Formats: sequence, C-alpha cells, structure tokens
Amino acid sequence: MTDLHALYRDLHQHPELSLREFRTAGVLADALRPLGFDVTTGVGGTGVAGVLRNGDGPVVMLRADIDALPVEEKTGLPYASTQRATNADGEEVPVAHACGHDMHATCLIGAAEQLAGARAEWSGTLLVVFQPAEELGCGARNMIEDGLFERFGKPDVVLAQHVGPLPAGMIAHGSGPVMAASDSLRVTLFGRGGHGSAPEIAVDPVLMAAHVVVRLQGIVAREISPSERAVVTVGRLQAGTKDNVIPETAEVGVNVRTFNENTRGIVRAAVERIVRAEAAASGAPREPEFEWHDSTPVLVSDPDATARTVAAFTERFGQERLIPGALVNSSEDVGVFGAAAGVPTVFWFFGGIDFSAWEPGKAVAMNHSPEFAPDLEPTLTTGVDALVVAARAWLRS
Ligand SMILES: [Zn+2]
Ligand SMILES: [Zn+2]
Repeated sequence: MTDLHALYRDLHQHPELSLREFRTAGVLADALRPLGFDVTTGVGGTGVAGVLRNGDGPVVMLRADIDALPVEEKTGLPYASTQRATNADGEEVPVAHACGHDMHATCLIGAAEQLAGARAEWSGTLLVVFQPAEELGCGARNMIEDGLFERFGKPDVVLAQHVGPLPAGMIAHGSGPVMAASDSLRVTLFGRGGHGSAPEIAVDPVLMAAHVVVRLQGIVAREISPSERAVVTVGRLQAGTKDNVIPETAEVGVNVRTFNENTRGIVRAAVERIVRAEAAASGAPREPEFEWHDSTPVLVSDPDATARTVAAFTERFGQERLIPGALVNSSEDVGVFGAAAGVPTVFWFFGGIDFSAWEPGKAVAMNHSPEFAPDLEPTLTTGVDALVVAARAWLRS
C-alpha cells in the first residue's frame, strides 16, 4: 500500500510553480506505475496520464491538478514548504502548495490504488490525469492540444474535486455553474506625450485611464441585471515616469468574472466599448489596443451527471456529510476537458479544516493564503473515498 501521508508530506515540502512541475510529475508517475496503470509523462508539458483498461464499459477520467503558488508558507507545520524558485520573470519567489493541489494529487493516487485493487468488481477504463498549470488556467488546454484524448482515449465523464475551507470530512456540491469564468485583459491607451506645464498641446493618457477605471465600474452596476452576477476588477494601472511629464501611453489590467456566456459576452463587449469611447472622448491620436489573455470558461458541473454522482455520495457518506455548494467567484480550468471531449464534467469541493478548535470570530485561512494547509485527516481519506465513490458510480459494476 502507498503511504499516502508520506506522499502528501513529500509533495507539500516540494511544491513547484505552474509549468515547472517536473519533480512532482515524476513522483506521481512513480506512484501510479506499480498500480498497473500505463503511465505517460510529459503530456502537454508536465502533465501525467495513466490508463487502466479493465474490460468493456465507460471510460472514466479522474483529474487532479498539481501546481503550487508563489506564496510563502506560514502554517508553522513541521512539513511546511521552505522552497524558493525562479518565476517566469526571472525573479526568485517563495513556493507553497497554498491551494491544496498536493492534497488533490495524493487523493488521486489513493483512489487509483483502491480502484485498481478492486478491479474484479468493475469493468471499463480508468483515465487518471495529473494536470499542470491550473493556476495559470492553461494546463488542461495544453494537455488536450498534446493529444490527450487521441492518445489515451476519450472519456465518457470527467470527475474532479477541490479542497477548501469547509469542515474536513464534508463534501459540498453544486449543480450547473459552480465556478466563474475568468477573462483578463491588457489595455494600452495612447495619448500624446508632453510637458506637464502644457497639457493643451498633449493628450493625457493618465486622465484617460482614470476615466476608464471609474467608468468600467458602471458595467456591473448599470448594464447587468441585478439577478445576474459579475465582477469587473482593475488590478493594474501603469503610466508615466515623472511628475511633470505627460506620458505617451497608459496600461490598464482588467479581470472579468462571469457565470454564463451571455453575461460574459455583454461584459467583455462593454469593457471594449467604454475604453474606445473614453479614448475618443480624450481625443486620443490612436485607437486603444486590447489583448485578452488567461481565459477560463465557466465551470459547469453537469446537472444530470452531478445528480448521479451525488446519489452515490449520499449512499456512501449519508446526507449529514453533504452540503450544498455555493457558487464561487474563483475559477478552474477542469471544465475545458469535458467541453473538449463533449462529455459532462462533475466537480465538487471537500472540506480541509478541523473546526474542533475553532471559536466564533476566528478567521479561517482560505486557499492561496500563506496560512492555508488542509488538516491531513479526515481530509485525505474523504478525498480518496469521494473519488472512488464517484468513479464507481460511472464504471460498470
Ligand atoms: Zn488556486
Ligand atoms: Zn486550486
């Protein structure tokens, strides 16, 4: 039997940034191979795919993400990460599994082991996928573009989970949209540079950018129905080098979160319209430039497929360990697999926090916080069980 606690601590102590998950991929491939899976590394960069063919029946894909974040761990755990790495900009940054992807990967090894051990009880094919670069929103796409489904088989369903700041041992499930679409935009505004004392012969991109930032906040307030949900955040605003110099350009970094394609289209179009209009209002000498990037679609947990999976959860865990999941504004790229294959995705959250020592008013560390780390148990066992139960709900008995 794999020592899952040791595997988890090892992954936790050796986090790797998105697209650099080389050691992690190796450790997971080495853990999967002895279980009888056909294992391939280097899929879409640092992804790992494992296939276990076990007779006729559906192809069930189980996916875990494996990347860590540039966060300095402050959990005080004996196995806390002290790792540092060089990021894509060449800067040295701390690295930690602050989103719990080490837990997801460990749970998937545990589930693969249980399912492989019980292969006399089911038939079908298990496709186990360890996905890199979830935090960049490109890992799923990278694996698909590298021929994941052509090389390893097209699944009939995609199953995945995320650990979160809920009571350990609990499972939260939504149905339909469960996580937001995220779209980022780089806007370049063009003015005409000049002396700060002579604004009349310049076109000031700083004032233009300021109007853009304020006006963009009118989209959600005035153009989206109050019954819909959307977020428009300007997280970056850059212009100028000196107080008395009017710069040539300004850059605005925008992030949009929406929950359906209609609203997403409305917000994206409104952002571009407002930016163009503000540039025109300022007398800009040149049209603004738009570069949409880091795009993740809405994550939809297919209602029918979710109902089938949750029925199996209810039978195994009892109603008392299930909670209805709230729609969250963060994003996940696992839905890209199901969409590309044209099959349902089922996604749920499982709790990672021991609330026995919790007191009212005490803050609970969320994913991406330096203090976030799941309590090892019963988190790990619950995550393993949930994957096994979900897979068995789809494999032929
Ligand atoms: Zn995350
Ligand atoms: Zn995550």
